[in-house]
Amino acid sequence: MNTTGNAKVAIVTGASRGIGAAIARRLANDGFTVAVNYASSSKEADALVAELNAAGARAIAVKADVSNAADVRRMFGTTEQHLGKVDVLINNAGMNKPTPLADTSDELYDRAFDINVRGTFNTLREAAGRMNDGGRIVNFSSTTLALNMPGYAIYNATKASVEAFTHVFAKELRGRNITVNAVAPGPVATSLFFDGKTEEQIQHFAKMPPLERLGQPEDIASVVAFLVSAQAGWVNGQVLRANGGLA
Ligand code: NAP
Repeated sequence: MNTTGNAKVAIVTGASRGIGAAIARRLANDGFTVAVNYASSSKEADALVAELNAAGARAIAVKADVSNAADVRRMFGTTEQHLGKVDVLINNAGMNKPTPLADTSDELYDRAFDINVRGTFNTLREAAGRMNDGGRIVNFSSTTLALNMPGYAIYNATKASVEAFTHVFAKELRGRNITVNAVAPGPVATSLFFDGKTEEQIQHFAKMPPLERLGQPEDIASVVAFLVSAQAGWVNGQVLRANGGLA
């Protein structure tokens, strides 16, 4: 691990559990200092930060609701103050509650777009003026966008917006040597995936990829680690599906 003062600084949104926590662990292990963002799960975020610091990394927990622009400004400010100017932004925070379009309440629609779309917009807008040149941004889409399954109209619409941001923002950052890519996981074993599903549904999803298993958070963290590495310097404006060959 890198414990020197010149380590690169990463913000991982929604890092209190699931894929975000695995990304925070992986980036800390790869030598980044990490701001572990969360909205409400302070116990989990604090426990992860304690684990990373005990392992010799440098990490802080930062509470911010990504759907709130003032929170996001504060998150960048706190990170700059404690860790330094940001080099890497991982826009992982997200929600999904599969619901047929006709049964979707105004509140559920707003929550999905507020967290998944406005949340990504808020951090990208802030990053434009505050990130170091040569940085890396990774947004989060989903393979569900390629599957068009019933119940996923709202979620897919939010992730289509994230993909649109990715393609355009990569071009708007011309001259800064900052790459902007998205990862689109298939089903991954986290509470976002398990919640509300029967064992039969879980097994059905697990059998869908030709590799015949659910993704693990670490599978996705590996892809993110590649995209933020020097080796991925020529990958820009792309959506990388990580799903065991599902679609
Ligand atoms: P998860 O286990 O439900 O974790 C979500 C994380 O986001 C939590 O740390 C949560 O923290 C945080 N969060 C939620 N709302 C937030 C907000 N407004 N501001 C800041 N943080 C917030 O989800 P996951 O499965 O790891 O998903 C991570 C990303 O991968 C999401 O973008 C999701 O759409 C995408 N994805 C997941 C799957 C899958 O099968 N799991 C598949 C494709 C794509 P708090 O509890 O503190 O709110």
